[in-house]
Amino acid sequence: MVKQKDCTIDSGLYSKIEVYLKNKDIKFIEKAYNFAKDAHEGQLRLSGEDFFEHPKQTAIFLADLKLDSSTIAAALLHDVVEDCDCDSEDIERIFGLDVSRLVDGVTKLSRNDVIGDSEFFPNANFLDDKPEDIAQAETLRKMLMAMADDVRVVLIKLADRLHNMRTISYLPPNRRLAMSRETIEIYAPLAHRLGIWEIKWLLEDLSFQQINPQEYKNISKRLNSKRQVRESYVEKIVSQIENELSNQDISSEVYGRPKHIYSIHKKIQKYSEINREVSEIHDLFAVRIIVDEIKDCYAALGVIHTKYHPLPNQFDDYIANPKDNLYQSLHTAVLGENSLPVEVQIRTKDMHEVAEYGVAAHWLYKEGVESDKAFEEKMTWLRQLLDWQRDASGAVDFVESFKTDIFQNQIFVYTPNEDVIELPIGATSLDFAYRIHTDVGHGCVGAKVNGKLVSLNHELNNGDTVQIMTSKTMKGPSHDWINPSFGYVKTASARTKIRHWFNRQERQTNISRGKELFQKLGRLDLDVEEQKVAKLLRYKNTEDLFVSLGDGSLTTEKILNRLTISEKKPTKLNHVETPKTGPASGIQVLGVGDLYTSIARCCNPIMGDSIVGFITRGRGVSVHRQNCSNILSEDESERLVTVTWGETKTLNPVRIQLKCEDRLGLLGDVTSIISNEKINIANINTEEYDDMVFISLTVYTSGIEQLDRLYTKLEAVSGVLGVIRLRSIENKRV
Ligand code: MN
Repeated sequence: MVKQKDCTIDSGLYSKIEVYLKNKDIKFIEKAYNFAKDAHEGQLRLSGEDFFEHPKQTAIFLADLKLDSSTIAAALLHDVVEDCDCDSEDIERIFGLDVSRLVDGVTKLSRNDVIGDSEFFPNANFLDDKPEDIAQAETLRKMLMAMADDVRVVLIKLADRLHNMRTISYLPPNRRLAMSRETIEIYAPLAHRLGIWEIKWLLEDLSFQQINPQEYKNISKRLNSKRQVRESYVEKIVSQIENELSNQDISSEVYGRPKHIYSIHKKIQKYSEINREVSEIHDLFAVRIIVDEIKDCYAALGVIHTKYHPLPNQFDDYIANPKDNLYQSLHTAVLGENSLPVEVQIRTKDMHEVAEYGVAAHWLYKEGVESDKAFEEKMTWLRQLLDWQRDASGAVDFVESFKTDIFQNQIFVYTPNEDVIELPIGATSLDFAYRIHTDVGHGCVGAKVNGKLVSLNHELNNGDTVQIMTSKTMKGPSHDWINPSFGYVKTASARTKIRHWFNRQERQTNISRGKELFQKLGRLDLDVEEQKVAKLLRYKNTEDLFVSLGDGSLTTEKILNRLTISEKKPTKLNHVETPKTGPASGIQVLGVGDLYTSIARCCNPIMGDSIVGFITRGRGVSVHRQNCSNILSEDESERLVTVTWGETKTLNPVRIQLKCEDRLGLLGDVTSIISNEKINIANINTEEYDDMVFISLTVYTSGIEQLDRLYTKLEAVSGVLGVIRLRSIENKRV
């Protein structure tokens, strides 16, 4: 045994590791201890203490969880690569691949923090500030990847965060809040998922204290004021239970269980939703019984239920149905002395270890990682989940789906071959089908639960055996499946898969629909070229542009907007001057003096058209459309000036023509649509030609956008075959 006096590790850490590690492990940790201490020499945290205190405390916490020597060493070294003159090759050379991989993993995660260690370490460069939710999503994604890769990385990160939370008071207030939010939204749920209650409670309470200091104070005051009463009450119950159990020859440890402030806060919130109040002390009693064997758990439960009156709906058997984080226990609540409710948890020592340490229990007393079936399954599941999430569209979506698929309570159902499938509560038979395989989901036509035929949106229960029927001629999912109101799927992974299917199917349809819509823009006689527009709106190619238009994520209004904005950039400036606004026309002439402007009658541009000014002799600037034939044939190009549409909304006349099949009341319908749009009509003219009716109208519009809207409405009128814009407002047929 390495004696403390022969070891350079200080007693705080030494006393934790000597309990469970062998000599060679302690020696190994000592090497890492001294290496990190030297590397951080002279560095101080914001608190003023030596920086090394931070990795040391991180390691101590992991030693409490009795983790293997590589993890403890990596914890000591976790900030060395980032903050010191030392790289991961040095770590690998000196401490081996296992440790260097762990350190690399933690370093990578830390680059993503909303707030990093650099905050505690004034000499380090600041990380770039990202919007909080995006940063969170990235953190989460990376944490999950690391978890699937080697969960010890995440354990180190959790311990690292725990120490940073404990020393949070040295941070400026806004940073404290950001870090606390990240902790309570990402880190604590992960600790929960990993079953490490100890870290979960601590992180939650520390964050809650920052996020809601007032409520934190209220609750802790309440706990303290009743502490005496509570403790003596719990003591009494504990000794009663001990007696009863030993009378039945069940050996056990019984003790009171502290309740945590944040969990009480959540309980208060939950109660207030159902208009109940948490009574002063009642809900704060909790007792835990640890026994030797599983059969003792049930025997102890029997004793408790005989001695005290059990409360209805409070019994949960997590031994027969372990939670997804491997947690096992019996939970019940009974009326104790003076009819005060007491929560009771009963479990074996092994279960207790898992309950306290969660996945960390897999490294207990073990060297390196041994394979463990339940644990491996867990990680396989996680890897799968990550695969699905990769399909989810954005970072924020990702967090959303994470919240439904990971943080929700789970149910366990069986395949006909008795394989266990884990799904969130509320999952349906269709979710099950998609969980089995994407193609099973797409081809799913029916389901049997426990041998009975059920609907695809049938909600599954714990323990169900589910059989999926698929059709050989796979026609693919139905649109209803992603309609939330029908409740076909609960899991984000199934929804993502269905959406993908439709996206693929609909790409072709969307391309042609998008093309059609795009051509309508051309019909407005705008200078729109597909390549140009795709480039302007940052699409990879015109096909992608059409898809967006087709599926509605891009609208023609948006294109019009962009075109109008981009054309406001003057291109042929001779010299720069403040834009002048011509009288009443809403047009700005760039680069020349205060000039009178007028709209050219030959091409009659309206707001939104690409325009150019022509300096007339004596009548100021006449404004033409860029593709006006008079302008194109103009030789005196020096008389052309750049003009743009100003901010003032002026109504300009435009002549449009509808091609229609005649019917009774057609003209009335057309005119009422136009006036509903609050557009004035100046002149209507109808002509018959080739069995068709051509209605030509002059309307006063505020611009291209309004005109586009009007087109859509007019085209919906029965009998109207098409609408075009006439070049000139002169009354003539084209
Ligand atoms: Mn750190």
